[in-house]
Amino acid sequence: MGVTREMWCLSALYSAGTHEAREAHEPVVLSHMGFMRLVSQMGLSEFTRGDPIFADEAVLRDTYRPDDLIGRDEELADYQDAIQPVFNNAPPLNVFLYGQTGVGKTAATRLILDRIEADQAKFDDLQVHAVEVNCKSCRSSYQVAVDLVNQFRSKDEEISSTGYPSGKVYSLLWEHLNALDATHCLIVLDEIDSIGSDDDILYELPRANDNGHVDDPLIGVIGISNDFTFRDNLSGRVKDSLCEEELHFPPYDAEQLRLILEHRVEQAFHDDVVDYEVIPLAAAFAAAESGSARQALKLMYKAGKLARKRGLEEVTETLVREAKSLIEEGRVKDELESLPTQSQLTLYTLLQLEAEGETPCKRKQIYERYRLIAKMADADIVTDRTIHDRLSHLRLKGFVEHDERNEGKAGGSYYLYELGLQRDVVEDALRENSRVSELFGEKEAEPTLDDF
Ligand code: ADP
Ligand code: MG
Repeated sequence: MGVTREMWCLSALYSAGTHEAREAHEPVVLSHMGFMRLVSQMGLSEFTRGDPIFADEAVLRDTYRPDDLIGRDEELADYQDAIQPVFNNAPPLNVFLYGQTGVGKTAATRLILDRIEADQAKFDDLQVHAVEVNCKSCRSSYQVAVDLVNQFRSKDEEISSTGYPSGKVYSLLWEHLNALDATHCLIVLDEIDSIGSDDDILYELPRANDNGHVDDPLIGVIGISNDFTFRDNLSGRVKDSLCEEELHFPPYDAEQLRLILEHRVEQAFHDDVVDYEVIPLAAAFAAAESGSARQALKLMYKAGKLARKRGLEEVTETLVREAKSLIEEGRVKDELESLPTQSQLTLYTLLQLEAEGETPCKRKQIYERYRLIAKMADADIVTDRTIHDRLSHLRLKGFVEHDERNEGKAGGSYYLYELGLQRDVVEDALRENSRVSELFGEKEAEPTLDDF
């Protein structure tokens, strides 16, 4: 096993020295430097086939498509009801499917589409075409429309995501849809909440038949969102047409997650590798935090990978706990790195005040220092109100903490703010943003007020 074998090889080399020395029956003397060089040359070991932990690790990946969903019978039945008009040759209902991430929305949609594909063959007068777009990286309706057009085109005929007027992109889309040899076209827009308030496409698509853009096929939209507030923020005209059928996928409880994990673990790991108490523990962790099957599976996968890396024979409870904190660290780091610059500058301000022993401190003090810092970073200086919003947002994410103080009638109440994370975690993440990283100067040299 990886580590153990390497350790054995290293100690053998250290005590036996070089091949030449042995041949010459010379006493073995390997300097520390020589040893270190050998260690570094051994960075890569030979790839071999075989895995003592996983029988089929792909089963734990997000790309795996399960044949069945555990604990979703009711939701799948409702989903099927919403699609039923298609099989009666009626116009499809538009469906809005929502629920937090990892609760089986995409997996359920895939199962439904597979079912439609298989069952439509029984009806001569039915031809359902499905188009699926993941809108995660789309920031606007325009980008979704471009992605949709490209679904109908070969790689070398794809249109670029800039350069076409939006009217042209829509007319290309109508052309492609009209040209389809199908009675129905179901358009799945997964993670549609990414488009934010620019929801034009969600107005255009469900009305494409009524507005005469597409004669046939009959168009149905399935919009999937990880964020329920997205529905509330849709414009009234969109809400009416898109949300004809609303399906909610609630978070899983610990028992459901345990069943989901048991099923996957059985396929993914070799027999007797996973300790019996590990699955309920991973299920309980994921249930307490999110109710997400994705998170539960990720936890088991990470624990398995840790076991493999260390040449261990079992996935234990300890490894699951370790996997959990590693995943959390990674998530916090990713979130910090993807914050907008003004939020990062706000955090940098708090970082600096904290290093000077000035925290917890009032918003006014934060804003005064922020102004200096934003100027130094050559960034826009936003208003006190905006920084207040940034602080609230950072607090919701747990990156900032606040404490309310009440000074009675005379002083009123106010908040004192401080970092909600360890300084080095914040610093490491902020160093990844080129504009903010310049503020740090050389590592270890903490900037002080004298720098201004
Ligand atoms: P969502 O789209 O809601 O974010 P997914 O459908 O992508 O979530 O599910 C996340 C992961 O969890 C996938 O690997 C999926 O196969 C698995 N999963 C989710 N729900 C179930 C379930 N009920 N039974 C089995 N696996 C599930
Ligand atoms: Mg999904």
